[in-house]
Amino acid sequence: MGLTVLMNAGPWLAVPPPGYGGIENVVATLVPELRKLGVRVLLASVGSSTLAADERLSVFPDGQFENLQRPYNQVCGVAQAHLHGVVRTLRERDDIDLVHDHVEAVGLATLAALGPGAAPVLHTLHWDLGKHPDLYGTLDGGDRVRVNAVSAAQLARAPRALRAHAIGHVHLATPLAVGADRRAPVEVGDYALILGRITPGKGQDTGARLARRANIPLVLAGPVGPYRDPAELAAAGAAARQNPDVRFWYDEVAPHVDGVTVRWIGQVAGAERDGLVARARATLFPLRWEEPGGTAVVESLALGTPVVATRRGCLPELIEHGRTGLLTDDEDELADLVVAAGLVDRAECAREAARRFTPEVMARRYLELYERVRRQPVAVAVLAA
Ligand code: UDP
Repeated sequence: MGLTVLMNAGPWLAVPPPGYGGIENVVATLVPELRKLGVRVLLASVGSSTLAADERLSVFPDGQFENLQRPYNQVCGVAQAHLHGVVRTLRERDDIDLVHDHVEAVGLATLAALGPGAAPVLHTLHWDLGKHPDLYGTLDGGDRVRVNAVSAAQLARAPRALRAHAIGHVHLATPLAVGADRRAPVEVGDYALILGRITPGKGQDTGARLARRANIPLVLAGPVGPYRDPAELAAAGAAARQNPDVRFWYDEVAPHVDGVTVRWIGQVAGAERDGLVARARATLFPLRWEEPGGTAVVESLALGTPVVATRRGCLPELIEHGRTGLLTDDEDELADLVVAAGLVDRAECAREAARRFTPEVMARRYLELYERVRRQPVAVAVLAA
């Protein structure tokens, strides 16, 4: 009999996500591959998710992402309500072999608290592990709860108690990596692209400032907080400034956005997003944080577009300087590197993605980890005996 896994994608966005959505994209990439490998998947998500699974469970009909932006005391019940539904299912059933959890902090804490009799848990850490020091610094999931990182660099920053639960890292994958090495080349434009949430860690302000100075066309694509495009943001008025990413946009990024050299086009999705990435001279990551997993980085390689980035977080694991992109410790060099990216072999970027970042590679690695998580308590019990 194959494994039955409860895949907990959480209550924030549908799977696959309608546009932006790093974790939901990972789940949407992983589940079909696991099912091909014989795993039965019970998807815990929201009612509007369309991803095929063997079974589903949801507490909320739709994604609660917009609520995530509200003050903590108004929103703290959302993830708990979702987890409440997950735990109820786990208590009612005895055929769940493992929970693969993706819900930040609340998923880990709740599932760890279920105690030794409950199903084994693999919790994927998608975040900057400098967050939640109180939880990560004191975590005790016994032998039953294990965590995995999405890069080696991310795990290296984890507090000791969290690292004690770790069983390595799994790099992110993208469906775009399948057959990436066989895709016909596209006509490349003259612009650089920053694709992602507009937020201080992603450094859109730095990118926009440097692009203006060097007169390099730059496209900023992605939402600002819950606002998908300039019209939505404008319609929200001054109240939107309660959101820190909105304040970052107005105070730090917008002054460099002239609508000609530097443009913000809002959130993009599907074929529009892929075309935008595929035609970019380079994707740019002027990071101000230790990027944990870099979905947009592997997507860029899969579409044959070299990556230009500050050498932070997972970037040196994903990008080989000179071969699939250009990395620097000095952000002032980024504009020159965008120009130099024209020399990077785009076919080599696509080959790298086809080799390392396919859904199948990711799913096989997770399956390996599931087996290890399931074996772990037995191993400990045998040792104790
Ligand atoms: N994304 C998108 N449209 C946008 C901005 C981002 O589809 O306008 C996607 C992007 O392609 C990637 C994900 O959202 O799949 C962002 O994941 P990443 O790991 O790069 O960033 P984070 O999870 O830190 O926001």
